[in-house]
Amino acid sequence: MNSIESYDYIIVGAGSAGCVLANRLSADPKTRVLLLEAGGRDWNPWIHVPVGYFKTMHNPATDWCYLTEPDPGLNGRRLQWPRGKVLGGSSSINGLLYIRGQAQDYDRWRQLGNTGWSYEDVLPYFRKSEDFEYGENDYHGVGGPIAVSGVRIHRKLCDVFIEAAGEVGIPRNDDFSGAEQEGAGYFHQTCRKGRRCSTAVGYLNPVKRRPNLKIETHALVQRVLLDGRRATGIAWTVKGQRHEARCRREIILSAGAIGSPQILMLSGIGPAAHLKQIGIEPLHDLPGVGQNLQDHLQIRSIYKTREPITLNDEVNNPIRKMLMGIEYLLFRTGPLTIAASQVCVFTKTSPDLETPDIQFHIQPLSADKPGDGPHRFSAFTASVCQLRPESRGRIDLKSGDPAAHPAIFPNYLSTPNDQRIAVEAIKVTRKIANTKALGSLIAAEHEPGPDVQTDAELLEYARDRSQTIYHPVGTCKMGIDPLAVVDPRLRLHGMEGLRVVDASIMPNLVSGNTNAPAIMIGEKASDMIREDAQS
Ligand SMILES: Cc1cc2nc3c(=O)[nH]c(=O)nc-3n(C[C@H](O)[C@H](O)[C@H](O)COP(=O)(O)OP(=O)(O)OC[C@H]3O[C@@H](n4cnc5c(N)ncnc54)[C@H](O)[C@@H]3O)c2cc1C
Repeated sequence: MNSIESYDYIIVGAGSAGCVLANRLSADPKTRVLLLEAGGRDWNPWIHVPVGYFKTMHNPATDWCYLTEPDPGLNGRRLQWPRGKVLGGSSSINGLLYIRGQAQDYDRWRQLGNTGWSYEDVLPYFRKSEDFEYGENDYHGVGGPIAVSGVRIHRKLCDVFIEAAGEVGIPRNDDFSGAEQEGAGYFHQTCRKGRRCSTAVGYLNPVKRRPNLKIETHALVQRVLLDGRRATGIAWTVKGQRHEARCRREIILSAGAIGSPQILMLSGIGPAAHLKQIGIEPLHDLPGVGQNLQDHLQIRSIYKTREPITLNDEVNNPIRKMLMGIEYLLFRTGPLTIAASQVCVFTKTSPDLETPDIQFHIQPLSADKPGDGPHRFSAFTASVCQLRPESRGRIDLKSGDPAAHPAIFPNYLSTPNDQRIAVEAIKVTRKIANTKALGSLIAAEHEPGPDVQTDAELLEYARDRSQTIYHPVGTCKMGIDPLAVVDPRLRLHGMEGLRVVDASIMPNLVSGNTNAPAIMIGEKASDMIREDAQS
């Protein structure tokens, strides 16, 4: 074992939240910070090209490549669950879509007893993290580390989809992070001049040479070292060789919704009965660790178009594909700048609802499943997900080996309400597809297809074909109830010197994509950690 060094803060995981912490906590030159990341540096050029997620997702060099356990709600199917394993974490391999959720999401967190997390409390941190292309206003900030920009390409199909949404009464919205979330429009994306702005690019690169910040890559954290109820250090391996570091102030787990509960359980912190089953001595019985898992499930409808106006047509044509590459290299524009989706729609399955309960992601292309090559025919995808699912899953350990993947039980579509909304959501998709504007472009519904009509058939389709939209959260939830893992200042209940700061602390999934909220959590936690150090 190498000599043991001491740090003020040790951050585990250089993902969306971890990179924020590394930047903000090392801003004080007197504070020594260690950042440990299991993945490597973000040198793969596809990380930085927006459309490159097709190359980095499902690639073990940049993705943990998790596979869920067979899920009864999906007729026993197992899903691939990508998670970034590289500097920047999932922000380096995600779909680049910038969405914050609804003000009511955060107000609900606050209502659960989480002082300091209402929308009014968190809005300044969204603004602080942001460099918004269209300038500063009440909702957006400029000069922050994360570039947020508009799309660099408009397509006829996307414009028509927005028009079709208007035909069924969904208003145009050009800013889903502004005063109103409801509506249809183009997504904002985490991009600067056609290049991905991950948290590694925005937060880590500008400070990586600070002498008081040490960044270790390929460092697989094994466990938190404890002295009674105090976290005192961390153990990790690099290429099988074990290392340790001591911590003077705090250890912060930012290993994400799968990694953070896994590390806690490997350290003897979690549901005691489960830990004993695995052969791990429970040191702190905390029943909520790994529980409360929530995710957005996308139900994809695919429509064949009458004309070759989709990206399938461009990608399947070698000459047009080459021209796309040249356009990107010369101007940083064109189809290679496309994020995972172009058009977003937030709407309601019932007019009685206060806020939208479903979100559409529209892609001017189609494939059998996300990450697969495009179909040989012209088609587009309208994917829809329920925003606030009631279904709750969990993460268990399969063994005490830190290199083994944990068991992921998403438990999708396990409540009658989630099942009902899945069915209604497909009906809303069809309503938009059947408008005058969009109907004239569509040749046929490829999936679910005309044979799928009754509610029971639609639900069966959702069970057979839906996929994750990559938003697992909630497995180390913040709160004041017996299943809460961290308190509202993100300190582990019943422990000293240990916090969790990442998407796992969300008590309830936000009504939208989760990268911007994870970054906000990193910003807010950095302030809380610095404040607490002074008290
Ligand atoms: C394919 C994909 C597409 C997505 N698309 C979007 C999108 O378009 N818009 C959006 O808003 N959100 C999207 N998301 C979700 C969003 O990116 C995540 O919610 C967010 O990045 C989570 O941040 P985090 O800090 O909690 O975890 P992460 O960013 O995942 O960071 C966790 C880090 O911890 C490291 N780690 C884990 N375990 C260990 C260990 N034992 N030792 C050392 N290091 C460890 C990981 O390697 C990783 O770098 C997507 C996610 C994926 C995977």
